[in-house]
Amino acid sequence: MAAELQSAADSYGIVGHPVAQSRSPFIHGLFAKQTGERMAYRLFDVLPEDFINHVTGFFAGGGRGLNVTIPHKPAAANFASTLTPRAEQARAANTLALQADGTILGDNTDGIGLVRDLTVNLALVVTGLRVLILGAGGATRGIVAPLLDLAPAQLLIANRSADRARVVAASFADLGPVKGCGFQEIDARPWDLVINATAASLTGARPEVSPTIIASHTVCYDLAYGREPTPFLNWALAEGASAAHLGWGMLVEQAAESFFLWRGVRPDTRPVLEVLTR
Ligand code: NDP
Repeated sequence: MAAELQSAADSYGIVGHPVAQSRSPFIHGLFAKQTGERMAYRLFDVLPEDFINHVTGFFAGGGRGLNVTIPHKPAAANFASTLTPRAEQARAANTLALQADGTILGDNTDGIGLVRDLTVNLALVVTGLRVLILGAGGATRGIVAPLLDLAPAQLLIANRSADRARVVAASFADLGPVKGCGFQEIDARPWDLVINATAASLTGARPEVSPTIIASHTVCYDLAYGREPTPFLNWALAEGASAAHLGWGMLVEQAAESFFLWRGVRPDTRPVLEVLTR
């Protein structure tokens, strides 16, 4: 039968815990349709202790590529046979790709996803700006190097636990003007771009930072995404920020970069972003 003669679609997916809420199957489904690529993309809810077994089995069974989300990104970097420089810098991989020689490449597309959203979709020139990142977790590790590549005047990482911010900043110090501190030590003068990379939005909270960091020229960006503006973005707008953006663009752009790594085809992100934010 004709159907039996057709080769099965190449197998991809996302591994996380929890992962049911992920929009990645929807996004990659739209990319595949748009580009005519024949691929299946599934959700895998995997406990940390099962991560290595699951991923090993996925690739042994013919799987071609995986996205990796909380809490497995550091484990994925350890699992990969080789890492791209940006995954190495982040010490975390959000993308695993089977290579022609059977090895697994680990990449981190989060940072380039944010940079594309800021510079292409939102047409923001980051060069020369004073940039403040709130939070010092895995997402921050992924975005620091790509942001430093844009040559901001200053990049400050501020975190609830100050030591963590200092450690993250120190590990990128050779790439540009980056420092780390606690929320109380943030330079109180207004910043040009404030990025909320804390996980506070996920629990309906916001990082407790001084309103003096916001002025009428300040652009605010929350890595979190949802139907409504986050508490941080509502607060920033109430304090007079010029713009407040959710992380939908970063989500779609990081997915597009993974798709490109897997298939060698770059999808058009604009229509997908429009559907998600409609
Ligand atoms: P991690 O768990 O690695 O780090 C969490 C960070 O948030 C830590 O710095 C922690 O501070 C801080 N934090 C948590 N709660 C609060 C709070 N109530 N007030 C202040 N700080 C807080 O998470 P990730 O870095 O992986 O993710 C961060 C956010 O980025 C999440 O919302 C995630 O969904 C989003 N994200 C979005 C992406 C996108 O494509 N748009 C891609 C990747 C992530 P401390 O060290 O003191 O505990």
